[in-house]
Amino acid sequence: MAPGPLESRRIDVNADFTAEELAFESEVREFLSAEFPGEYRDKVDANIRLSKDELVNWQKILYRKGWAAPNWPQEYGGTGWSATQKYIFATEMGLIGAPEPVPFGMKMVAPVLMAYGSDEQKRRFLPDILESNVWWCQGYSEPNAGSDLASLKMSAVRDGDDYIVNGSKTWNTYGQYADWIFCLVRTDNSVKKQEGISFLLIDMHSAGVSLKSIYLLDGHPEVNEIFFDDVRVPANNLIGEENKGWTYAKVLLTHERTNISGVPRGKRRLRALKRIASDTDDGFGSNMMENSTFKNKLAETEIELQALEYVELRTLAALSVGKAPGPESSILKIVGTELAQKMDELFVELAAYNCLPFLPEQFEEGFQGNPVGPGTAASSALVYFNNRKLSIFGGSNEIQRNIISKAVLGL
Ligand SMILES: Cc1cc2nc3c(=O)[nH]c(=O)nc-3n(C[C@H](O)[C@H](O)[C@H](O)COP(=O)(O)OP(=O)(O)OC[C@H]3O[C@@H](n4cnc5c(N)ncnc54)[C@H](O)[C@@H]3O)c2cc1C
Repeated sequence: MAPGPLESRRIDVNADFTAEELAFESEVREFLSAEFPGEYRDKVDANIRLSKDELVNWQKILYRKGWAAPNWPQEYGGTGWSATQKYIFATEMGLIGAPEPVPFGMKMVAPVLMAYGSDEQKRRFLPDILESNVWWCQGYSEPNAGSDLASLKMSAVRDGDDYIVNGSKTWNTYGQYADWIFCLVRTDNSVKKQEGISFLLIDMHSAGVSLKSIYLLDGHPEVNEIFFDDVRVPANNLIGEENKGWTYAKVLLTHERTNISGVPRGKRRLRALKRIASDTDDGFGSNMMENSTFKNKLAETEIELQALEYVELRTLAALSVGKAPGPESSILKIVGTELAQKMDELFVELAAYNCLPFLPEQFEEGFQGNPVGPGTAASSALVYFNNRKLSIFGGSNEIQRNIISKAVLGL
């Protein structure tokens, strides 16, 4: 069978786009270069984190344009774009360095609400997610339930119209900013562990919720432990049926893994690697493009990124005809995160001794001193350390390999 337009797309080559798609690509490019604030772009280029306010502001700019949620159905405020348009949009966003929405509301809890929430829950939560008025975080992992998530213990006991929740969640990304958390909780201890789990939405401002930040290797409090002490949660915050949470959670995880592959961001980073490696005047002084071992590694990375893009396009095409991402999303998660870590190593190799001194202040907004080394050299180490997380979160890569061997290869 002849390849369809998506299958025949080559990385960075637009030859297969129709005239309408090319016009759409120009529209997206013009919009992003006019509307993605220059100061945010400078920060992204310098590997400095955008603040919560900046992330929300950017998302609201997209919202006003009607482009906040490309993957949502139109009835909830999605764009109605084809798979190719979504691909173009994601690519252009990645190339300019514009951040994707923080995923917990838009890409995680929203699809679960759409699939399993009541009409009242959809009306109550989806508009605020679309407009980025409310910040969500994900409450799955617990101190003794990560890979073996079904062992989770945080309990929700029914008391009249409420649940009383006790226990703790951990590794909650950006939980310190969150207004709401979606949690897996134990509602029945007497059955097989997967069958006693429910999916509950909890207001982070409820009495009895407290939080302690955890610092990652790069010195940033990106994740948290959250404690729940006799927290009263209205029973109408339960999604779907009691004890069916495991089914809903699995749907969410496949979406999470598809979102993790990061091809557009990878393309942007690959361009930066090539630029730094070819430029003898940028202060790195390495001219690593003359080094055949380095050049080979760069070429291998580019080929792998291109292969990953094709796999992602196949998943996108399936989504566009209404299929949920299947266990193949584990492939995207593994390859995407390993590739990102490979690029981290190449950045560190380019920066050489310039990324060894660690001066955390230089990555803070408004730093006035002399940064260590040229350009992004010092932050290469920071990004390297931060990205160790990639092969752990969203289900570790070892667990993804187990899923592929069972569900895809049938071993
Ligand atoms: C930066 C960061 C952000 C995160 N954000 C969130 C969040 O927002 N919300 C949330 O709920 N969770 C979050 N997580 C948690 C994440 O999903 C878990 O860390 C992950 O599932 C692994 O669980 P664990 O840390 O308990 O490790 P463990 O499950 O204890 O695993 C330890 C090691 O053993 C390996 N292993 C375990 N079981 C097997 C097996 N059966 N076969 C082969 N190898 C195995 C693992 O791969 C790993 O290398 C985050 C984690 C990190 C690091």
